[in-house]
Amino acid sequence: MDNRRDVKAQAKVILDRLKQEYPEAACGLLFQTPFELLVATILSAQCTDERVNIITQRLFSKANTPEAVLSMGEMALQDEIKECGLFRNKAKHIIGASQMILLEYGGEVPESFSELVKLPGVGRKTANVVLSNAFNIPAFPVDTHVFRVSNRLGLVQGKTPRQVEDGWVELLDRSDWYDAHHSLIWHGRNICHARSPKCHLCAVRDFCETGKKNAD
Ligand code: SF4
Repeated sequence: MDNRRDVKAQAKVILDRLKQEYPEAACGLLFQTPFELLVATILSAQCTDERVNIITQRLFSKANTPEAVLSMGEMALQDEIKECGLFRNKAKHIIGASQMILLEYGGEVPESFSELVKLPGVGRKTANVVLSNAFNIPAFPVDTHVFRVSNRLGLVQGKTPRQVEDGWVELLDRSDWYDAHHSLIWHGRNICHARSPKCHLCAVRDFCETGKKNAD
């Protein structure tokens, strides 16, 4: 048996099962434009999507472009986003990103990974979220849920999000990346919780190294 082919086939079955479980899996952040998604994703660090959506609904009604954010200013922006953690840093990053988008990219969020990660506050995960969800460019963001579920499943393991990203990217077709990372996020939120995973309800338990060890 070709082991690599076997692992790829397993990845496909896991993905199909999770897609069946979560047919509506998609980005939980509300946005209308790439800039709105960029801001929402920066805000989402250590903050739930639900809280980010409440904050951005209010913020975007006042400022949803780089120009408007800069007109608002850093202190007023801090005030708008203070209900999410790390708000001072996040305000600084959003202001810095807005300046760079205006000065270097003509006011438009860039559509390449290498340009996105140059923006203040934008790391690998945020860049991949924007590429995948705002520009429909295949990318595989690894957040805390994807990282945890992947390592528990055992098919793709890694000590860092980058290693997990590389593992999935190698196993799955590019056309599956969007559904895969959203399904893994939803599985992490609904079943494979950080503290007490509900293995007895898990649709992919028969493929899971951790689930096989956990008693019912
Ligand atoms: S079997 Fe348990 S640990 Fe494994 S993916 Fe399912 S919920 Fe998570």
